[in-house]
Amino acid sequence: MSRERIKLTIHHLYADMMNLYGDRGNVIAIKKRSEWRGIPVDVVDVGLGESIRPTSSADLFLFGGGQDREQALLAEDLSGTKGADLRAIVDDGGVVLGVCGGYQLMGHHYETPEGEKLPGVGIFDMHTRPRREDEARLIGNVLARVRVPEDEESGAIREIAGFENHGGRTELGEADPLAEIVVGYGNNGRDGTEGARRLNAYGTYLHGSLLPKNPWLTDQLLLNALRRVDEKIELEPLDDAAELSAFSSVADRISGRGRG
Ligand code: GLN
Repeated sequence: MSRERIKLTIHHLYADMMNLYGDRGNVIAIKKRSEWRGIPVDVVDVGLGESIRPTSSADLFLFGGGQDREQALLAEDLSGTKGADLRAIVDDGGVVLGVCGGYQLMGHHYETPEGEKLPGVGIFDMHTRPRREDEARLIGNVLARVRVPEDEESGAIREIAGFENHGGRTELGEADPLAEIVVGYGNNGRDGTEGARRLNAYGTYLHGSLLPKNPWLTDQLLLNALRRVDEKIELEPLDDAAELSAFSSVADRISGRGRG
């Protein structure tokens, strides 16, 4: 597809319900970094009862974090063809990012503190249990290291920084973690993993919102989506001084780096 005709559609799942800690910023970051490269973007809100409709051009699917009440409504809504459609999109290499409550529902189930097992979409081989009485919520800033499959040859290690606040403990089965924790709790505060990744499906506990101050990850998601329609497309570099300053101010503060 010629560069002039490519267009990105961001499917914002449950935009008005799953927007904890400004996760909507992830949509804005992807939209702006695409438009700054001259690629037009449509943002489509996909709410309860509405179908997911991939387009004939590039698509990217996002859903943010939310509390147990919203997650129960989502689990119901995703339990039929909608969840199967999302799973099929991932199996076909589609780009999906789920954050916290959205991420938890990308596994087999999310068990609420009341013991209700909300069915997940089954994108990742993982499940989430509630915290025990003697366990605190996992809250705080996070710095984590990502082994980027796209950088396998160079073996590059990237970092992501963000903020987490969740009671749920996610246990990975066969699913690969997205990252390894440097500072913070991540999936469960025990095994040093954060999030999950399978093909072009990404799950993370990092709010912030995550993408604005992690521009490399934003571009990775964007490029993976665009290359599904034009495998040779490249992204021109942008002046990321402000984004990288925001990343460093968080990463250095929580890791103690940069202190003289
Ligand atoms: N309700 C879920 C939990 O507490 C997710 C919360 C969130 O999205 N921050 O684990």
